[in-house]
Amino acid sequence: MLRNLVPSEVVTSVKALDYQAKYKAGFRHLLFDLDNTLTTYAFDAPDAELTSFINELKAIGFTVSIVSNSGAKRVNPFIEALGVGGKASCKKPTIGVLQTLIGTDLESIILIGDQLLTDVWAANRLGVRSVLVHPIDVSTDKVFTSFNRKLERFFVNRIRAKYPAVYDQRLKSRYE
Ligand SMILES: [Mg+2]
Repeated sequence: MLRNLVPSEVVTSVKALDYQAKYKAGFRHLLFDLDNTLTTYAFDAPDAELTSFINELKAIGFTVSIVSNSGAKRVNPFIEALGVGGKASCKKPTIGVLQTLIGTDLESIILIGDQLLTDVWAANRLGVRSVLVHPIDVSTDKVFTSFNRKLERFFVNRIRAKYPAVYDQRLKSRYE
């Protein structure tokens, strides 16, 4: 399980990834977590900045989906306004719902999110590339997410103890 919590890579925000390079490398489908990855609870619909970011990704040639554990009331306004695919109540880190959204070409998919215990774990179980971003603003977290972040810290410490080289390479930039 511990190794399944290690992301393929870590970046400071969704905007810090080189999407042109990812497209050239063969990636075609981007699955984004919503809260604290693309936006925060301070917003109940996409602002102009998020809309133009998503449009840039579409222009490169990506299909974009939002895969959130939040309910439809929270998630659907973003899916509709941005004109993307995806689903509410994804139940990450389980992968049943996600599997209904993706094809079989796992090598072409990147899942991007801010939590190890939901986003990264789900991506690694699916067998797609997992990208961890720094959360936008943890003060907007709901209670359950705050709890998850404490649990996440426990697992990060275990990874550091058991796989120090992996920790240094993939997690240190986010957790120190
Ligand atoms: Mg999140």
